[in-house]
Amino acid sequence: VHSSDEIGELATTINQISSRLEMTEAERKRLDQIRSDFLANASHELRTPLTALQGFLEALQDGLISEEGRTKYYDVMYHETLHMTRLVDDLMDLVKLENDDIAFSMHEVQLEALLKRLAFSFDNALKERGNTIQLEIEANLPRIEADQDRLEQMLNNLIKNANKFTEDGAITVTASTRDQDMVIEVKDTGVGISDKDKPLVWERFFKVDRGRERRNLGTGLGLSIVREIVLRHHGQIELQSEESIGTVFTITLPLTQQAS
Ligand code: ADP
Repeated sequence: VHSSDEIGELATTINQISSRLEMTEAERKRLDQIRSDFLANASHELRTPLTALQGFLEALQDGLISEEGRTKYYDVMYHETLHMTRLVDDLMDLVKLENDDIAFSMHEVQLEALLKRLAFSFDNALKERGNTIQLEIEANLPRIEADQDRLEQMLNNLIKNANKFTEDGAITVTASTRDQDMVIEVKDTGVGISDKDKPLVWERFFKVDRGRERRNLGTGLGLSIVREIVLRHHGQIELQSEESIGTVFTITLPLTQQAS
């Protein structure tokens, strides 16, 4: 769907290599470019919190910070380390997913129970943002063959985003069947995504720049991970969004996995 996406390109290029064992000069250059873009982005994302940490530590070392200031500094520093941990965890996850290093264990999953548990676990986070969540689940929803942990990670990322980019709004998660597929929708009434940004949200490290408004503490890797999980289940994901109205992510997953 998003042919400009670097992950897609990387996968295509790697497939080409494995099928032919030789690359044209142009292909090698392209692969090198994707690799070095990725490294540059990853380094930059880690550099930012690291620079902040260093600055705060130096100020503390100088001993000029008041008692009250120190408490604030420690708090900020702690959050910067949390952010770095999230980044590294997400990065490791994404790289493993892309390299097929994680064996998916496909079992029959009861989506309804999973969604109820997830909604419950978001209770506090939702209240903090004044949001509500509603589940709309088709009666007698069949089980779906999937990797339960990965399915949960995917839905967790989507609901977390819906909550993060919505204030005093409603999040609706629907699950229904269509032909041989399970269709899952995660819908919010939040800030939405502009047409310009829509194709970019799948790219690693991409975060919409909302100016000084509020610092986005995400990693920009969540949707890349979501997409990778969907693809590994031979499914599809689509995005509809309108600024100031809201966003809908629609995931279509086959109910049963073809042996591959
Ligand atoms: P992040 O860690 O920043 O959430 P993601 O890859 O999950 O990274 O998302 C990339 C960007 O896409 C976000 O920073 C945000 O700008 C935009 N985005 C994702 N989900 C939503 C949503 N439900 N509503 C509005 N914008 C969203």
